[in-house]
Amino acid sequence: MRYIGCHLSTTGGFVSTVKTACGIGANTFAFFTRNPRGSRAKEEDPADCAAAMALMRESGFGTLVAHGSYTMNLCTADPEAREFAAQILCDDLRRMRLLPGNYYNFHPGSHVGQGTDAGIEMISDALKKALAPGYPVTVLLEAMAGKGSEVGGDFAQLKKIIDCVGSDNVGVCLDTCHIFDGGYDIVNDLDGVLAEFDCVVGIDRLKALHLNDSKNPLGSHKDRHECIGEGYLGMETFQKIINHPALKELPMILETPNELPGYQKEIALLRAAER
Ligand code: FE
Ligand code: FE
Ligand code: ZN
Repeated sequence: MRYIGCHLSTTGGFVSTVKTACGIGANTFAFFTRNPRGSRAKEEDPADCAAAMALMRESGFGTLVAHGSYTMNLCTADPEAREFAAQILCDDLRRMRLLPGNYYNFHPGSHVGQGTDAGIEMISDALKKALAPGYPVTVLLEAMAGKGSEVGGDFAQLKKIIDCVGSDNVGVCLDTCHIFDGGYDIVNDLDGVLAEFDCVVGIDRLKALHLNDSKNPLGSHKDRHECIGEGYLGMETFQKIINHPALKELPMILETPNELPGYQKEIALLRAAER
């Protein structure tokens, strides 16, 4: 049994979200910690979080993969905006304490002219400050498509951030659309790509997957998600991914262009491909 889910809204609370997940055959999910295109966050509800954690345990859920806001750019050139992003990160990590043991994934950021190395340093600084010793949640850097000045578009950049932060609490989330867009050919050589990840980053740092097909061919750097099996990755690739010994225990989150019924279908499609 794989841990497969999708992005779900938590506006009705976490217990209600867990029930929604169960209703579509999911046993994990992703949620935005705040408005994905802004910075506003909802009031926390400790009792709801605790009840949701209990319900997930009972229902055999895998680890959740929270997602930070798209607008949180830890390596923006403007020092004030950068400080604001760092505060958002701290606030998100404080909120995640109500969901211990789960993951918090975010886009490392986009340097806007200062260059990748400067960006990596800024992102690492923010993480170092935000991650207290003994913090109960693992933070995941999402592998990016390398669009514009995005940081995290190749494995070496992710490794640099991990080394710079120097904490066991930092891992990686591989997004299948993003890495294919970044030039990693998971269609023809999934084993080779994973061997490269292991060599550059270390496979033990790989904690979660975003399952998305791609509207664009290898190396496009476009970041346009497609429904499972309908893009350049194709169903055969997803069949290999969900059955790969190095991947099959990881939480797998769909971020395909779907509403709930579409997600339910894709989860069923993937489960039918489990060997
Ligand atoms: Fe993302
Ligand atoms: Fe993603
Ligand atoms: Zn994407």
